[in-house]
Amino acid sequence: TASDPKGRQAALQAELERRNPGEPEFHQAAREVLESLAPVFGARPDYAEPGLVERLLEPERQILFRVPWQDDRGAVHVNRGFRVEFNSALGPYKGGLRFHPSVNLGVVKFLGFEQIFKNALTGLAIGGGKGGSDFDPRGRSDAEVMRFCQSFMTELHRHIGEYTDVPAGDIGVGGREIGYLFGQYRRITNRWEAGVLTGKGTAWGGSAGRPEATGYGSVLFAAEMLKERGEDLAGLTAVVSGSGNVAIHTVEKLIALGAHPVTCSDSQGVIVDEKGVDVGLLRQIKEVERGRLDEYARRRGGSARHLPGGTVWDVPADLAFPSATQNELDAAHARTLVAGGVRAVSEGANMPCTPEAVRIFQEAGVAFGPGKAANAGGVAVSALEMRQNAARESWPQERVEDELALIMAGIHRTCRETAERYGSPGDYVAGANIAGFERVADAMLAQGV
Ligand code: GLU
Repeated sequence: TASDPKGRQAALQAELERRNPGEPEFHQAAREVLESLAPVFGARPDYAEPGLVERLLEPERQILFRVPWQDDRGAVHVNRGFRVEFNSALGPYKGGLRFHPSVNLGVVKFLGFEQIFKNALTGLAIGGGKGGSDFDPRGRSDAEVMRFCQSFMTELHRHIGEYTDVPAGDIGVGGREIGYLFGQYRRITNRWEAGVLTGKGTAWGGSAGRPEATGYGSVLFAAEMLKERGEDLAGLTAVVSGSGNVAIHTVEKLIALGAHPVTCSDSQGVIVDEKGVDVGLLRQIKEVERGRLDEYARRRGGSARHLPGGTVWDVPADLAFPSATQNELDAAHARTLVAGGVRAVSEGANMPCTPEAVRIFQEAGVAFGPGKAANAGGVAVSALEMRQNAARESWPQERVEDELALIMAGIHRTCRETAERYGSPGDYVAGANIAGFERVADAMLAQGV
């Protein structure tokens, strides 16, 4: 307990791993948070008392369901659907849906757990949850994706609602999928309940600026960390991984602020573009054509190389934006980036850096923005979408972008001040975990067992 914070942390970790066997990503996410909390347990005996953290580590509800659907030839496929409703002390469960073959219960739990603290950090009234399916959208027609989304919502609809649980997108779930999901929810429930999903099209209840928000926010967070050190993004070279919604808008914002993003990647390889990534071409290939990056090199001409199976972390740069998926940047990559002079790392994806990589960055004095803080812009603008839906308003893009900038600056300040308060100045990991925890813990204590 409070007199032995390290022992308390180890006991909680051991019990979590015993209760959740075979879920390494969840163990990893929990370990990072519990490590950050050790000094808090020492300073705040009420937080260390048996019960509170145990409640926080166990999802309030876990939903597993069958998702049967027919492909274009009439063959039946069966996927698995998940929704982990992790914590609702601060608001309705909020978090994305991921459609990717790697999705399993442990992955959804890790994402839902991270979401609790991330959402708390935004300062908006949203709890934490996450869902998804092991469905692989790659190579599937629009009609197949539609039937899959309809089948998924045929079960999910009974668990969600604007005051209950509000899903959104994540890997494999963008505007198209949210449209099919919303349509099915509306048909089944006979309710035009705008606030049940976020990431909707702007013509039917979506917020301007939502697609951009995660990537833009991640760049704004990096800018805040640099400002803290008296530095500025303009003129700096950046490596970005991924080529989905987060990566594309990270590249776009970097260019807008005068930085020079030179890479992106997908599961088959890497693009290195010495002239700077052409965001228009990237969008055309990934968003319009749903194609692959080798096509980018073919059309871009001389300045771009496509390296099949390579990694963007070999390219020396001032800034790194891991914006693809969990554990994509390991210790060896971190050492290479440090040797190449990296100054700031901002996690656009959830948990993209391994714990060893994070340690290497921090020991080298690199400004490191953890995903819970750096990529919170997406879910923050989702909460602004909920606010617009509740008020039956739709705000102009500039208003959303202004609010996003204020929210990201606020998250940065909260993380910085909290880290200082607990004696680890400059440690945004500790700052994000502790500040997020304090908000959720206070609400849970006030609301009783
Ligand atoms: N999937 C995104 C995240 O990890 C967004 C969630 C949301 O908008 O609800 O934060």
